Amino acid sequence: MTVPAMPRLDPELFRRQAHQVADWMADYLRDVSRYPVQPSVLPGEIRAQLPERPPAEAEEFSRIMADFERIIVPGMTHWGHPGFFGYFPANTSPPSILAEMLTAALGAQCMSWSTSPAATELEQVTLGWLRRMLGLPEGFTGVIQDTASTATLVAFITARDQALGRASGRAVGELTAYTSEEANFSVTKGARLAGFLPERIRLIETDAQAAMKVDALEATIAADRAAGLSPCCVVSTVGTTGSTAIDPVPAIAEVCRREKLWLHVDAAFAGSAAILPEMRWLLDGAEAADSLVVNPHKWLLVNFDCSAYFVRDPATLLRSFAASAEILKSVYDGTGVNFRDWGIQLGRRFRALKLWFVIRTYGVEGLQAMIREHIRLGHLFASWVEAEPGFELAGPARLATVCFRRVSGGNGPALDPDALNQDLLRRLNASGKVFLTGTRLKGRYVLRLSLGHLTTTEGNVREAWETIRQGA
Ligand code: PLP
Repeated sequence: MTVPAMPRLDPELFRRQAHQVADWMADYLRDVSRYPVQPSVLPGEIRAQLPERPPAEAEEFSRIMADFERIIVPGMTHWGHPGFFGYFPANTSPPSILAEMLTAALGAQCMSWSTSPAATELEQVTLGWLRRMLGLPEGFTGVIQDTASTATLVAFITARDQALGRASGRAVGELTAYTSEEANFSVTKGARLAGFLPERIRLIETDAQAAMKVDALEATIAADRAAGLSPCCVVSTVGTTGSTAIDPVPAIAEVCRREKLWLHVDAAFAGSAAILPEMRWLLDGAEAADSLVVNPHKWLLVNFDCSAYFVRDPATLLRSFAASAEILKSVYDGTGVNFRDWGIQLGRRFRALKLWFVIRTYGVEGLQAMIREHIRLGHLFASWVEAEPGFELAGPARLATVCFRRVSGGNGPALDPDALNQDLLRRLNASGKVFLTGTRLKGRYVLRLSLGHLTTTEGNVREAWETIRQGA
């Protein structure tokens, strides 16, 4: 019987394979438009091509790469395709990809200062840069969370613990949380995970622009107090997922100040635009918030995942999340920051490296130029929709996301407008040329085009519009 070979590190073999992978990546970034944006596969088709059992023996790298190209790549939705206008983009860029490779090579676990001193301090520095870029006051301190969903869950947990500490004798079941009916679903999910009872999570009505109505918020808080409940936390959104609507944060902040409620600002996508002086107003009022999240992985060219979470008082995080064990103790615990105490996970990736690479590679001015161009393209697309008979805008196009819909089906029989738009979206996405998403605004089904990639050009947006017109 032969003894199975022990895995060994062969740096020269790795070098050759890494060069091959680097070549593959460069070709992919150059040629991604040759793929259909979304594959025409059915659930189970990819799995059916893969063995059910793991290989007992070592396989050649060339065979693994061949299967990656043959089975995996054609089964992917290509988020970096110039025709991808769905959801909010999941950004990527060459410096971010390279930094991710370095992160993987370093293989560090960045839970504590002592387990990765440079990773911890680079996180402090890059989030300090981002804070300045966003025009947030010095009092805010940043930490990287994986996603905005986690950041919002962290906000709910800290708000809950603060409220229960303050109003001793209260139970979590009495706490109420507030957000708008247009908030991302991760907000209500975060509230539930933090222990808020589903029936105590209030979805505040929005106005015609899909922004939270402050008078409705005030009335709901007053009714809850009158019912003997304990209002705890408000999550306002700057740039809703559906239509990039912007809640009136200054007025909401004033309510929170008066009522002593935690204010969390979810600026996951739109917050990045505040790096433009002319768009800084987006974060007006955020200086009074207790916490805020902006996703560089949505609109700042940093690979998924990287969410910047800013808090006014890091002590609130420590109160909820600090924990230690003998194995984690270090002589630097009093002087170095241990980011494991600023969130849910113990283990942490080195995410700051890619943010650092991206900001340095493009500079603040480069990133500003990109966002400015995306907003210009968003406005341009909206102007084409407005000028086209049979189409209408479904709301103001403030940023790089445009909601619109087809309002007449031409000369054929009159169709239900929702069905007309759902059918159009299905056909557009099946074309493989573009990928858009649909949503409901005030009960109406609308199509949604969202820009945000490094490579998106006016030509790509024009092509998308032509495809939509032809599809209609
Ligand atoms: N908040 C808003 C406004 C969003 O649009 C999204 C996702 O699109 C999220 C939160 C959730 O983001 P993540 O995927 O980083 O959890």
